[in-house]
Amino acid sequence: MKKILVIVMCSFLFSHYTFAQKNKRISSKGFAVLEKGGKFQDYKFTRHSLGENDVLIEIKYASICHSDVHQVNDDWRPGNFPMVPGHEMVGVVTKVGSKVTKFKIGDYAGVGTMVNSSDTTQAYKEENGGVWNPMKTVWTYNANDPFHNNEPTQGGYANNIVVNENFSIKVPQNADLQKIAPLFCAGITVYSPIQFSKVSKGQKVAVAGFGGLGDMAVKFLQAIGADITVIDVNDEKRALAEKMGLKYLDGKNAQEVQAHNNQFDFVLSTVPTSYDPYLYLDLLKVRGEMAVVGQPAVTDKAAVQMLSLPFHANKLMYGSVIGTLEMEQRMVDWCVENNVYPDVKIIPANAESITEVYHLLRNHEGVFRYVIDMTTLK
Ligand code: NDP
Ligand code: ZN
Repeated sequence: MKKILVIVMCSFLFSHYTFAQKNKRISSKGFAVLEKGGKFQDYKFTRHSLGENDVLIEIKYASICHSDVHQVNDDWRPGNFPMVPGHEMVGVVTKVGSKVTKFKIGDYAGVGTMVNSSDTTQAYKEENGGVWNPMKTVWTYNANDPFHNNEPTQGGYANNIVVNENFSIKVPQNADLQKIAPLFCAGITVYSPIQFSKVSKGQKVAVAGFGGLGDMAVKFLQAIGADITVIDVNDEKRALAEKMGLKYLDGKNAQEVQAHNNQFDFVLSTVPTSYDPYLYLDLLKVRGEMAVVGQPAVTDKAAVQMLSLPFHANKLMYGSVIGTLEMEQRMVDWCVENNVYPDVKIIPANAESITEVYHLLRNHEGVFRYVIDMTTLK
């Protein structure tokens, strides 16, 4: 009788233990802002437990996108605070769920702007020319996750992340980990419209906004062999562009820009602040295409006057938002194979350094992408 009782108790404790292990939340530490526009602080939190289709990634590098600054500023909508931003990250897989097939422990993996979707076909497949349904997407941070009791999602300025394997990109083992993180947002966001507009060798193209996205756009357009002009609003960018052998126009000088009207096949606008889109639309030839990816704050009213649209006749303007996961995987593989990476500045993983980068980006002093070296996290 005693024996039976011991066996029953042991199996109860064992099943209780395995249930608890299975549902164990994952401890994380990183950097958060506690309120709109705040400074970064060290922050400890937990993430949902590892599901059967999830992988746990130890983050090695996470980069800072201007969208992070917009969200910390509440530029688009009221945010979820405390907020751990970051939707460009790469690291090493340290645990896999029981049904994971895409990754094994030790693989490199990247995560971008989405961690799940209630419409995975759309998110993953290149249907409708690479358009997926943003309304059904679970964003990497500053969102609520309907797959996990609507808990707030937290991003990549942290030591780890747990994510559905389908929403993680495979990173080849020979990739340059220090430089690759920006591809998971900046890279795909510009790659997608360049593909959509079928930009080809010799075409005359302009990239407005020579920051993190603009730098990657130039890299892809150089690989295609396009004739590139960049447009920005600060003299440091002019010097950098000219050093790189690129043509440059000053977006603050309307006359300088207008002198090139009706000449371009493709214009890509990555501008994050208030501006006159018609100034750049007019650069296009008839049937030329302008893709808009920059997303200024709701309070930055763009000067899109419907009254004057007919006078910008037969020039096409469209919006584009990141890209499909399938396209992202193809882009990452291509970049690694061809050694094409963004220009980055590496910063240490501490709250002061991240706050300083936000200060630079808010004050028009940023240069391309800043990457947080998470291996220095204490
Ligand atoms: P960055 O700050 O790195 O770069 C923006 C660049 O645009 C800066 O060099 C800035 O100059 C320049 N700029 C500002 N005003 C003008 C102007 N009127 N004409 C030309 N250039 C100008 O930002 P990111 O590249 O990281 O992001 C750009 C935008 O794209 C953001 O709004 C971001 O939210 C959005 N985005 C959209 C995505 C999408 O899926 N659609 C995905 C990712 C980002 P200065 O340094 O002087 O300010
Ligand atoms: Zn981004």
